[in-house]
Amino acid sequence: MSRSVDVIVIGGGIAGASVAARLARDHKLVVLEMEDRPGYHSTGRSAATYEPNYGPPSIRSLTRASGDFFVAPPESFAASPLVSPRPTIFVIPEHQQREAEALLKTGVDFSAISVAEACRQFPPLRADYVKEALLDATTADIDVDLLHQGFLRMIKAEGGEIVCKAEVRAIARRGGAWEVSTPAGSFTSAILINAAGAWGDEIAKLAGLAGVGLQPKRRSMAVVPVEAQMNVMAWSFVGDVGETWYAKPSGGRLLVSPAEAEPVGPHDAYADDMTLAEGIARFQEAVDIEVTRLAGSWGGLRSFAPDGNPVCGFDSDAQGFFWLIGQGGYGIQTSPALSELASALVRHKAVPAHIEREGLRLEDLSPARFH
Ligand SMILES: Cc1cc2nc3c(=O)[nH]c(=O)nc-3n(C[C@H](O)[C@H](O)[C@H](O)COP(=O)(O)OP(=O)(O)OC[C@H]3O[C@@H](n4cnc5c(N)ncnc54)[C@H](O)[C@@H]3O)c2cc1C
Repeated sequence: MSRSVDVIVIGGGIAGASVAARLARDHKLVVLEMEDRPGYHSTGRSAATYEPNYGPPSIRSLTRASGDFFVAPPESFAASPLVSPRPTIFVIPEHQQREAEALLKTGVDFSAISVAEACRQFPPLRADYVKEALLDATTADIDVDLLHQGFLRMIKAEGGEIVCKAEVRAIARRGGAWEVSTPAGSFTSAILINAAGAWGDEIAKLAGLAGVGLQPKRRSMAVVPVEAQMNVMAWSFVGDVGETWYAKPSGGRLLVSPAEAEPVGPHDAYADDMTLAEGIARFQEAVDIEVTRLAGSWGGLRSFAPDGNPVCGFDSDAQGFFWLIGQGGYGIQTSPALSELASALVRHKAVPAHIEREGLRLEDLSPARFH
């Protein structure tokens, strides 16, 4: 027996949780998650940063439009802000002048700071490595767990259901509805939302549709211990302007990433040891920290459509099939606005005014651009 609902959301990461939270109020809804907890894949493995000058124009619009939600979430969602300020320093070494010019062309709000100021904000930086430095004071840490849990709580409070260990293995079209089979049972709905992250094209194929050419890319992260008296949590986020490494204070340690974008298939990602070692070597050229051991490491997938924009909207050929994938390296910082947009489109409503004001062009996100 198949259970009938209005909306099935495949994937319990930030994309699925946020859109489901916004639809649960007036839709009978179920979120199907293949793992034993939501957030196991990309959502639980990010750098947790809000960076409005990062990514293509569509991403920047969605990130800016998400800003107010992060700073002042609804009281029922979280009692405190979801972000805390942490400026970013882009260091420009000798050989990255061209990358610095490119960044300045696309970004706003950067200010040039002295090498001494860069070293004050990130004390281990080596003054002889940094030729120049740019400061972006608009960036912040995001409390990803608070954000994700807030959306999951909202789903349940509105009567929605989250079913874990429910890997979608088959999708059929029967009598004008989608029928989805999982080890936790079968579900039927008029609307099926594909928020399966790196598996987005696999879900499309199960539904008999062509994928959009989604490419998951691995990024590794090392956790570097830092002595308590160094007060690491007061330091800025720092990276080279060519994005070949970055370091971020987190939980009294430093997260150091080689910032790689290695194309891979969808899988349970893990850090690549060689890539990590090379990234740490680049980091060590820039800082006076000797990395002798790691406190941990992880890998995660950032999944991109061929043009780098997310894919959000109903499929024009398959009635009721809604795409919400391709958030790349920006799925956390865009989630408040992208979920608001997605839920408006599911309801056949216009783009919310505050998102349109940020310059978002719906055609940049439309799945029709690939089919
Ligand atoms: C190292 C790293 C750093 C990052 N840093 C940032 C950052 O600083 N800021 C930022 O905004 N973003 C960042 N990102 C990107 C961000 O993490 C992602 O864009 C975001 O988490 C994507 O969310 P999602 O819900 O689409 O994917 P996921 O979190 O992967 O969720 C998809 C879910 O779908 C489920 N699923 C898949 N197939 C099925 C199936 N057949 N049946 C049922 N369920 C299924 C999976 O189990 C998974 O839980 C980073 C990513 C990485 C890897």
